[in-house]
Amino acid sequence: MPNNSHEHIVEQLRAKLDYHNHRYHILNDPVISDSEYDKIFRELIDLETTNPELITSRSPTQRVGARAISRFAEVEHQQPMLSLGNVFDGDELESWFYRNEQTLEGKRFRLATELKIDGLAVALHYENGILVRGATRGDGIRGEDVTSNLRTIKSIPLMIRSDSVPSKLEVRGEVYLPKSAFAKMNAVRIEEGEPPYANPRNTAAGSLRQLDPVITSTRPLDIFIYALGHIENGPSFDSHLDTLDYLESLGFRINPANTTCETLADVEAYYKSWVEAKKFLDYDVDGVVIKVDSLAYQRHLGTVARDPRWAIAYKFPAPRKITRLRDIKINVGRTGSLNPYAVLDPIEIGGATVKLATLHNADDIQRKDIRIGDWVVVERAGDVIPQVLEPVTVRRNGQEIEFEMPRTCPICNAKTIRPEDEATTYCSNKTCSAQFVRLFIHFVSRTAMDIEGMGEKLASNLVNSKLISDIADLYSLTKEELLKVDRMGNKSAENILTNVQNSKTRPFANVLYGLGIRHVGYETADVLVKSFSHITNIVLASEEQLASTPGIGPKVAQSIRAHFNGADNLRTVEKLRLAGVQLETTSTVAEIGPSILSGMQFVVTGRLDSMSRSEAEGRIKTKGGKTASHVTKKTDYLVVGEDPGSKLDDGRKLGVEIIDENDFLKLLSGSLIGNQGK
Ligand SMILES: [Zn+2]
Repeated sequence: MPNNSHEHIVEQLRAKLDYHNHRYHILNDPVISDSEYDKIFRELIDLETTNPELITSRSPTQRVGARAISRFAEVEHQQPMLSLGNVFDGDELESWFYRNEQTLEGKRFRLATELKIDGLAVALHYENGILVRGATRGDGIRGEDVTSNLRTIKSIPLMIRSDSVPSKLEVRGEVYLPKSAFAKMNAVRIEEGEPPYANPRNTAAGSLRQLDPVITSTRPLDIFIYALGHIENGPSFDSHLDTLDYLESLGFRINPANTTCETLADVEAYYKSWVEAKKFLDYDVDGVVIKVDSLAYQRHLGTVARDPRWAIAYKFPAPRKITRLRDIKINVGRTGSLNPYAVLDPIEIGGATVKLATLHNADDIQRKDIRIGDWVVVERAGDVIPQVLEPVTVRRNGQEIEFEMPRTCPICNAKTIRPEDEATTYCSNKTCSAQFVRLFIHFVSRTAMDIEGMGEKLASNLVNSKLISDIADLYSLTKEELLKVDRMGNKSAENILTNVQNSKTRPFANVLYGLGIRHVGYETADVLVKSFSHITNIVLASEEQLASTPGIGPKVAQSIRAHFNGADNLRTVEKLRLAGVQLETTSTVAEIGPSILSGMQFVVTGRLDSMSRSEAEGRIKTKGGKTASHVTKKTDYLVVGEDPGSKLDDGRKLGVEIIDENDFLKLLSGSLIGNQGK
C-alpha cells in the first residue's frame, strides 16, 4: 500500500478518535462503547508503529509523550491572568454592584454567573488550531510551562477540529481533580498507612506540577474553560457568554452551570441554590463568580491593581470551626512512618462530629506553629478528612506545649529516624510489630491480594499469635489455625482459604504493590510491571536503571533498590514464588497488538533514529516480545543503534543475532519474520 494512503487512514482514525473523545469527555454522551473506542485506538497505534514517520504530537496516541524534566520553564503571560476580588455576603455584593452601576452611569447591565471551581487556573495557547503551550497562572504575570502535563488531560483538545480556526487563540480554564478520584487516591493512601492528601485542590496542583508526565497521566485531572484570553483572525464578540458559546463550538469543555442574571435578586437565588446543591457535584466549588457580561462594559470598568472591577467572587461559607486541640498522637504506618494526628474537643462541623484531624507531618505542625492545648481552626470540606488549619494564637495562655516528634517508636520503642530529604519520620526497627501488622493488612487488602473476609482484626490476631511472621505465610495458613485465633464458623474459614487460593491469580502489579515497598503505590507498581515484566528484572535492576524508567523518580528507585537489598525481602519473594503467586506479567500486554514477537527476547543498545530506547522497548512489548538490559544466551535479537556500547561485543561473543534499526522496524511491522522459538 502506498504511504500516502496510510497517511490518509491515520488522519481518519485520529479525527474519529477526537470526535469520540469529545463526545465522551466533554458532551458526556458517548455513541460508541469503550471497547469500540479501544479498537480504533489500537488500529491507530498499529499503523503508527509500522509507520513511525506519521506520528505527530497532536495524535491522540501521543498525550503522554514527553520525558520527565528536572524543572519547569518560566513563561510570561501575554495578558496578565487576573485574580478576583472576594465578597462574603449580600451587602458586600450589593456595594460591588452599585459601584459598577455608578461607573456605567445608570445603564442596565446583565450579569454572567458561574461556579467558582476550586482548582488551578491555566492558560492554553493554540496556533492554527494546534495546542502549542499550556502554563499555570503562577503570580498572574509569570507562570510555569506545564504543556506536557496538560496534554494528558483528555478533555483538552490537542487539535481544534473546526472549519475555521483562529490563527492564534488563548483560552483560560480551571484544572481540578474530581472528588471521586480524590477519595479513591486517599483510600489507597490510608490503606497503605500513609497520611491522606489534604484536599483535591492541592493534589491537583501537585499532579499538574509533576516533573514526569507519566505520573500526571495516572491522575484523572479534568478542566473547565472559563474565559477567552486572546484571539487573532477569529470572530469578535459582544458578551462574555458569546465567547464561551464559541469556545464550546470549538470543542472546549464549558461548565453547564453558567448562566446569566438580570437582577441582584437573581444572583442571590443562584448563589443560594448552589450552597446546598454543590455537594452533588463531583468537584469542589468555593463560591460563585459574577461578571458583567458585556465586553464593552468590561473594558469601560477596567481593572484596579490585578483585580478586574467587572468581576467578583461571592464565596460560600467555609465549613470551619474553632475548638481545643487536646493532644497530638502518633499512628505508625505500614512503612514505619510516624503520622501525627490531632485529638480535639468534639465539635460539629457541617453536620458531622469531628474528634480527630490530620496533621500531616512534623514540618507542617512546626510551620503552622500548632501546639498542644491551642485553640485551632478545623476545616472539614465535603468528604475530606478534617484538618487543622491554624492555631488561634490570641487565645493562648502560655500553657500550650510545643510538639516534638518522638525519638522512639511509640509501639516498639526503637529509635526513630528522619531521612534528610523527607518530611516524614520513621521507626528504624524493621521488625516493629506495628509496621508488620500494617504491612500484612496492606498485603491482604483489596488493591493487593484482595483476601475477602480477612479484616484488620483477624490480620492483627494472626500476626500477634505468631502464625504470620512473613507476608508469604498467608499461603501456608490452615483452617485449624484460623479457627484457633478467631471465633468464626467452619464455612467462613473455608471461604477465607478459598480466597487465599484464588489470590494466586492476582495480577503481578497488585502483588508488587502488596509487597509494601516504601513509595511504591499501585500506580508505581503498575509502571514497574509494564517496564520490567518480571520480578527478577526488578530485583536485579540497578538504581540507575530504575530511575531511568519513565514514571520512576530517583527517590522511588532508591527505595526499591534498598528493599531488594534486604535478605528478608528476597526470602519473602522466593516464598511467594514457591506458593505460586504471579510474579510476572501475563499475556495482557501482548493483546494490544498482534503478538508477532511473542517468545522473543530483545536487547536494545545505542541510539536509534526514529525512537528513543524506551519507546523501542515499549513497542517490542506491545508486540508480545520481551526486553532485557543484558545480552545473554537467551537473547534472540540485539538491536544496535548508533554508538553501541560493550553489549555489541557481548552479542558477538555469544553469537546473538544482531540487527540494525531498519531490520528492527521491519520486524515490528511484520514484514520480516523472526526466528521464533529458539
Ligand atoms: Zn516501631
